[in-house]
Amino acid sequence: MGKKIIVAGLGHGGIAAASILAKRGFDVTVYEKKSQGTLGYDWTDIFAPAALGIAEMPMPDEDKYEYKENMTFFAPTSKKSLTQHVPYDELEIKMERKDIYAHFINHAIGCGVKIEYDCEVLSPIMLGNRVIGIKTSKGDFIGDLVIDACGLNSPVRTQLPASMGIEKTVHRDEKITIYRAFYNKASDEEVEAKFRVNFFAGGEKCISWVASEDEHTDLLVGRFEEFTLEKLESYADMLRENSPRLGKEKIRGGQFVEIPVRHPLSVMVGDGYAAIGDSAFMTVPLIGSGIANSLKAAKMLADTISSDITESYSAETLWNYQVKYYKALGSGLAPLECVKYMLLSLTPDELDYCFDSGMLNEDNITMTANFTSINTQFKLDPKDLMIKAKAVCKRPEVLKKVMICGSRMAQVMAACAAMPRRWDRKKVMQWTKAYSAPFNAYKK
Ligand SMILES: Cc1cc2nc3c(=O)[nH]c(=O)nc-3n(C[C@H](O)[C@H](O)[C@H](O)COP(=O)(O)OP(=O)(O)OC[C@H]3O[C@@H](n4cnc5c(N)ncnc54)[C@H](O)[C@@H]3O)c2cc1C
Repeated sequence: MGKKIIVAGLGHGGIAAASILAKRGFDVTVYEKKSQGTLGYDWTDIFAPAALGIAEMPMPDEDKYEYKENMTFFAPTSKKSLTQHVPYDELEIKMERKDIYAHFINHAIGCGVKIEYDCEVLSPIMLGNRVIGIKTSKGDFIGDLVIDACGLNSPVRTQLPASMGIEKTVHRDEKITIYRAFYNKASDEEVEAKFRVNFFAGGEKCISWVASEDEHTDLLVGRFEEFTLEKLESYADMLRENSPRLGKEKIRGGQFVEIPVRHPLSVMVGDGYAAIGDSAFMTVPLIGSGIANSLKAAKMLADTISSDITESYSAETLWNYQVKYYKALGSGLAPLECVKYMLLSLTPDELDYCFDSGMLNEDNITMTANFTSINTQFKLDPKDLMIKAKAVCKRPEVLKKVMICGSRMAQVMAACAAMPRRWDRKKVMQWTKAYSAPFNAYKK
């Protein structure tokens, strides 16, 4: 039997990495706090199907998914809306979360992964500076490597010793609180936009969507603060004014959940430890999608582990996983956090102006399955650049916010490019300071 890999939590990236490693002869066990058959949320998710192939997983059966519709974005009060036009071959798929889990788990079991359900991970077990296992509600488990797939508030990552230099806490502005539920269909009336996304509807710093499906209406409301069910309900009433199909009877879902919307973890590995998925903040900071990135990361992590001929699974040998992740995805995703902060700094009136003036157009909001950096949204088209430049120059307060965003994005990009290619503890710790600085500036 190969080396023993512990996967803490049945996160999407964790189970995908577990499958590849088990197929390659590693002895892999996943420890999950929930019971068998209860994973996932009671709603659908959208992700890039090509990521499945990258993580060496088959496509699900065709009756288990459909292609995502284009979204239409609405400014706070502007009459102008912008609709995506995603080309057919770049469409993401939409699947029930429970079916996504079932697909991943069946594949993993076929690859030889063992899963221990009803087993809550409590903390890492350390030997000096090395993670050697996990403490769980079912006892202690020791392994050669712990893959942390426990999500945003992982009890492994948050209890690592400070000496490992791995961030534990997540600032309030770095995570979005989401309420999501499916409601009944209040009418059969044709809607202007089937998948309506609202920025700051009602003048509140809030993003929401109302998607009119055949059987139900899908409501999502996200804020950078906690909110109550009472507040949600009054906000939903306000949304009903423009979305009359949104009924009042909740049919499915109805939970508050958190998604990281920040730059990827600055140090994802340590001796005997690697983080993946939400545990390593792999979501797209502007939209919170994390499934495809976690799958792609799974392949990078599994390849790094398999090629460690020393079998030490140390920070030094695992660092290549982080280098690969940042090169392929992280360096494009991290600057998007600055765009998120800029959007949040705009007043509703300024956001209306961005829609009306052409500063934002339909290309800019057309996020395809390949959306992992700002470059895919803003093409170097001289005519479009001229429109945007003229528009932004007419509003000095907007210009200032765009300039701050641009300068911080440039700092982030420069920091990503300067990430040490080889593990050197001192250099890596110095690098994390430079990488974190532009983001810390938002928190002052
Ligand atoms: C409302 C909502 C909608 C989303 N929509 C999309 C979407 O459409 N597309 C997309 O790509 N992404 C979406 N995401 C984000 C996506 O879910 C994550 O980015 C992605 O699943 C990666 O997260 P993860 O699997 O690593 O972590 P998680 O999904 O948090 O999974 C962590 C796992 O670890 C388990 N766990 C946690 N703590 C413990 C413990 N102490 N002991 C044992 N097990 C533990 C959990 O039960 C869970 O199974 C959405 C997220 C939310 C909340």
